[in-house]
Amino acid sequence: MDNVVQIKSLHKTFNSSNRALKGIDLSVLKGEMVALIGPSGSGKSTLLRHMAGLTWGDRGGQGSVSILGETIQKQGKLAHTVRHSRAKIGYIFQQFNLVNRMSVINNVLMGRLGRISSWRGTLGIFTQEERSLALKALARVGMEKYAYQRADTLSGGQQQRVAIARALMQKAEIILADEPIASLDPESSRIVMDILKDINEKDGKTVIVTLHQVEYARKYCGRAVALKNGELYFDGPSEELSDKRLANIYGASQLSVD
Ligand code: ADP
Ligand code: MG
Repeated sequence: MDNVVQIKSLHKTFNSSNRALKGIDLSVLKGEMVALIGPSGSGKSTLLRHMAGLTWGDRGGQGSVSILGETIQKQGKLAHTVRHSRAKIGYIFQQFNLVNRMSVINNVLMGRLGRISSWRGTLGIFTQEERSLALKALARVGMEKYAYQRADTLSGGQQQRVAIARALMQKAEIILADEPIASLDPESSRIVMDILKDINEKDGKTVIVTLHQVEYARKYCGRAVALKNGELYFDGPSEELSDKRLANIYGASQLSVD
């Protein structure tokens, strides 16, 4: 089976009445690059967090989530093996989530933590081989010359590139990126999306990315999945996101923003 993500009948209710996801069915194939779009509050981040095994659906529901063939949750309960699946997922956040006071290379090496003994990682002891892999990952995102700088001396776009290098170091098979370019200027956004596309095309990694701006979904992602009020409203080639469809998804008044 080439389904790397398989979600069935997923429901998620917050605070007993806020139905953030209302029965989502979604399959993603290995090597796809999928844009997850939809208005603010439509459930994009919640859906992504379910794929990463960071949260679980409603108890008693029929929902299930499988990642790389392993069921990570079913009927509102996480599988105890979820850690193994989490290690294969690189999660990229809008706010980069680097350790500010640490050097760039050490931030990248943190991607390794799930894979080595914890005491070695805690003490910051990495092998020469791991260090050279980290430098390679940084080179891949064009950041090797910043390796020994503190992370907080970098611009937002540069920090996001380091966060991607960390996911590469982790040898993540699936990259989940939640609004990775929402805080970036257009030039940095383009660089970050180019890198994600490159990893998708050259390494065959599956990339699922939530995006605010539909133009990036059209340009970079073959497939778009749109949520509206917690329901899957559209799932198909991103070039089929016509203005009319977008108006239905976002509401005509918001269209100009995107
Ligand atoms: P999006 O990422 O599309 O903006 P979210 O997935 O963040 O949407 O949110 C979907 C809905 O779920 C919203 O109504 C939001 O307020 C609610 N929600 C998300 N996370 C939580 C949470 N941890 N606790 C309570 N409500 C939440
Ligand atoms: Mg969100």
